[in-house]
Amino acid sequence: MSTLVVQSEQSPEIVSYDPATAEEIGRVPLTSPAEVARAVERARVAQPAWAGLSFKERARVILKAREIMLAQLEELATLISREAGKPVSEAMSMELVPTLDAMHYFSHHTAALLQPQKIDIGQYGLMGRSSRIVYKPMGVVGIISPWNFPLATPAEEVVMALMSGNAVVLKPSELTPLTALKIGEIFTHAGLPEGLLEIVTGDGSTGAALIEARVDKIMFTGSVATGKRVAEAAAKHLTPVVLELGGKDPMVVLEDADIENAARGAVWGAFANSGQACASVERCYVHESIAPQFLARVLADTQALRQEVGTREDTDVGAMTNERQLRIVEDHVSDAVERGAKVVTGGKRSSNLSGYFYPPTVLTNVDHHMTIMRDETFGPVLPVMTFKTEDEAIRLSNDSVFGLTASVWTKDIARGRRLAERIEAGTVMVNEVLYTHGIAQTPWGGIKESGYGRTHGRMGLLELVTPRHIHVNRISFLPDLWWFRYDPGAQKLFQGLATHFTSGSLMKTARLLPQMIRRLFAPRV
Ligand code: NAD
Repeated sequence: MSTLVVQSEQSPEIVSYDPATAEEIGRVPLTSPAEVARAVERARVAQPAWAGLSFKERARVILKAREIMLAQLEELATLISREAGKPVSEAMSMELVPTLDAMHYFSHHTAALLQPQKIDIGQYGLMGRSSRIVYKPMGVVGIISPWNFPLATPAEEVVMALMSGNAVVLKPSELTPLTALKIGEIFTHAGLPEGLLEIVTGDGSTGAALIEARVDKIMFTGSVATGKRVAEAAAKHLTPVVLELGGKDPMVVLEDADIENAARGAVWGAFANSGQACASVERCYVHESIAPQFLARVLADTQALRQEVGTREDTDVGAMTNERQLRIVEDHVSDAVERGAKVVTGGKRSSNLSGYFYPPTVLTNVDHHMTIMRDETFGPVLPVMTFKTEDEAIRLSNDSVFGLTASVWTKDIARGRRLAERIEAGTVMVNEVLYTHGIAQTPWGGIKESGYGRTHGRMGLLELVTPRHIHVNRISFLPDLWWFRYDPGAQKLFQGLATHFTSGSLMKTARLLPQMIRRLFAPRV
């Protein structure tokens, strides 16, 4: 049990539990579709005035919220830890640090990133024309978020959406609603005008209602199955969607990698957040020549991890956030074992802890027939396979319906970059793992079934605005060459445009000048 809908006196409520202790930590309303529609309406009313403010004025509110967040660091990290099961240290390093960084970055840089842009329009420019792109807010952005990073995932998108002049309606996961309400509280205390950040707590039905309420953009982060439902529902209203979905992220360790560091990277990349990160290392391919040393290091580092309730200061790995996910992990491991995988460490639900604890698990003798190498496990399991050649490593990495992130480990950076470009994923890291969601400047998003669209960085901001093309003709007293009326002379000139003007050569176009002048100044009737 990790969440439950209960009927209170007047209306249904969602109960949030601590997955490490099964203790109830709070209740929130299950927002009805009618209430969701009212929240969207309030956001719609509030948005134009907010969009009318300067970037600096908007940034003032975000930076104030940042100050408040900083003042509540420990309280927030503890709440995240209790609601999601992760260690307080991880709530700090993987949620608060990137959120605070994004608040700083987007407050100071959104104006420059969304500056109007002049477009080079070639020879049309010589005819007194110019084109610019200006970026306008979408309006009301609906954010639907999962439970694995209950602060960072929604808060960073909230910041980007607000900075680009939108209002936001946030539907957080039913498993972690209290953290989302905290985000709302912080922005309210920072002086964000009413209606600009509406938080509608609830389950899938609430998310569906948000799409039905016809927001102007949906930023969805969650599973592939729900992502497909979201895309389908949004298509009914032609609402654009960004889909940040699951992953089965490969880690490729080449024979010239720093074995010790690659092993540490694999252990953190697979077990941080109990493996419940879309960019977790979900499968590891190590060159056969270094596999014994690599595995020995991985085993030693894994067995040294302390698994305990997240609120203990020395906890490395906390509880998983919910039972459903834990069962998926158990199913994947037992399927692998039945098909011949070897459990090197872990492999069975921890019996000395009462919450949803699954021990960090390392498997060998795995292959791509096993579910554990194909479907998203989203838990603390590291299956390790060997390879003989670069080509084989690339083929195995790309043998997946997912394409979120991947990593290549080598001391030869040029080789790393070369291989990185051959791996099908939205982000490929060389000698790094998992963390680039935390970089505010770089785009985040996947290919294949990992979704489409981007969040973070300039590309992420561009998802939250509509580009408007403004085209100006400075020569307001002359008609265009291609306007009415048509006659044999016009036809000849158009032929000339087809052969000369479209060649891009100024010299060739210049040969048409006499015809152009004749046509421009020809009598109208
Ligand atoms: P989920 O798909 O079950 O739920 C995500 C959100 O969608 C929740 O808020 C849920 O209430 C809502 N929802 C459910 N049904 C809905 C519907 N029909 N219409 C609208 N909203 C609906 O995912 P989850 O279990 O919360 O999260 C885990 C998944 O998220 C994993 O697959 C993970 O890989 C993925 N994820 C991806 C990223 C990324 O950036 N690519 C980041 C974090 C998590």
